Amino acid sequence: MPDYFNGRLDAGKLAELQRKHLWLHMTNHRLFETREPPIMVEGDGFIIKDIDGREYIDGLSGGVWAVNVGYGRESIVRAISEQLRRLPYYAGSTATPPYILLAQKLASLLPDLPKVYISNSGSEANEKSFKIARQYFREKYRSDKYKIIYRNRDYHGTTLAALASSGQQERKIKFGPLPEGFAEFPHALCYRCQFGRSYPGCNLECARALEAVILQEGGEDGVAAVIVEPVTAGGGIIPPVAEYYQVLQNICRKYDVLLIMDEVVNGFGRTGKMFGFQHYQAEPDMITLAKGLASGYMPIAATVARNKIFAQFLVDEEDKTGYFRDISTFGGCAAASAAAVENINIIEKEKLAENSAAMGAYLMEGLRELTEIPVVGEVRGTGLLAGIELVTDKKSKQPLTERHLAQVVADAKTAGVIIGRMVRSVPGFNNVLYTAPPLIINKEGIDRIVKAFRGALEKLQF
Ligand code: PMP
Repeated sequence: MPDYFNGRLDAGKLAELQRKHLWLHMTNHRLFETREPPIMVEGDGFIIKDIDGREYIDGLSGGVWAVNVGYGRESIVRAISEQLRRLPYYAGSTATPPYILLAQKLASLLPDLPKVYISNSGSEANEKSFKIARQYFREKYRSDKYKIIYRNRDYHGTTLAALASSGQQERKIKFGPLPEGFAEFPHALCYRCQFGRSYPGCNLECARALEAVILQEGGEDGVAAVIVEPVTAGGGIIPPVAEYYQVLQNICRKYDVLLIMDEVVNGFGRTGKMFGFQHYQAEPDMITLAKGLASGYMPIAATVARNKIFAQFLVDEEDKTGYFRDISTFGGCAAASAAAVENINIIEKEKLAENSAAMGAYLMEGLRELTEIPVVGEVRGTGLLAGIELVTDKKSKQPLTERHLAQVVADAKTAGVIIGRMVRSVPGFNNVLYTAPPLIINKEGIDRIVKAFRGALEKLQF
């Protein structure tokens, strides 16, 4: 037990200090009037333990689908501590061995994207991709070509431009004015097709709709990039249909628009392949990575780019910069890079992307059996990224409310399984429950997750 208060982990004291001083993310602190939120103290594999000794299956990989390799990885701890001892940190404008080795490792996984720019969070990785796209076109004397098109329901982060590029209106409303130069195209959720069509006879109208948005924003002369999550995560677990990205990519090429894929959630095995885009025929120009990059053992993120993009930053003429005009203090941190290298080694050695595919298929099989329950509208997902959309009845598809979703999450927790719900109901999208356990999960763990869903859903009253 760590030495918090003279060798004792004092639950009461920590709870009191939490209530007094901690401003929790995404938490209404009025909840303290009725109950104490849990304090997590230990993890092992896919099990997480709270301060009262209760154990849960972590069906959310650290709450936000990050801890891909699971808890208690001694080799990552060793890699970090050895590097901390040797040299914890040096600014990202100067190399250290782990920083170089991480770049090489990522380039070996993504050979078409061999230029690696390190930062600290998913939001930051996306911001960098926008800055790279804008500077790239400016170096080509295309100052007008700066707009970024994003997809409805996708999420790209919390900082203002990342938020501006997120297709979730409910997250934006209290923070305007947001940076300009961002525009939205339709989501790819077949269950709630906004064109009233059904696949495969739909001609993928949702993807083709990108072209009209690009034209409206100035076409080739106005738009720099399109950003998408290969499989939308927090916006409702939406895997687009097989041909979707071919259509998107052709449109991008037609207008000389860069395609950025946000693999912050999808990356490192979450969807059953190392990267989400590998389920599709897609050739992104940039990819952004975070969460599973070091599985939460250290904060780190990356933006990786094609050589053709990097090449524009090399030209050192009088009116050109000659380098990417960007820096962040902790981007490239040696110890965080060491954590990421060892984390990726584990994912490769233990074939965790493959396990994610196998366990994901088993999970889907289990969850699909729940569609017999009247409130289960649709089960969807890829690999170990699964969602269940809840409705009042299957015909009207009227969404169940946040209160009902919260009840299912609470009941599952009582049964010892942590699952999630999209927050702030947006009818038709955020009435979705989800699970994304660590990629080391086994059949027993999946059985318990499915059982917890079933138990909670069957007793749901509305
Ligand atoms: N992109 C996606 C797809 C995400 O889900 C998230 C976070 N949930 C982010 C970007 C932002 O990452 P961060 O919270 O590390 O800034």
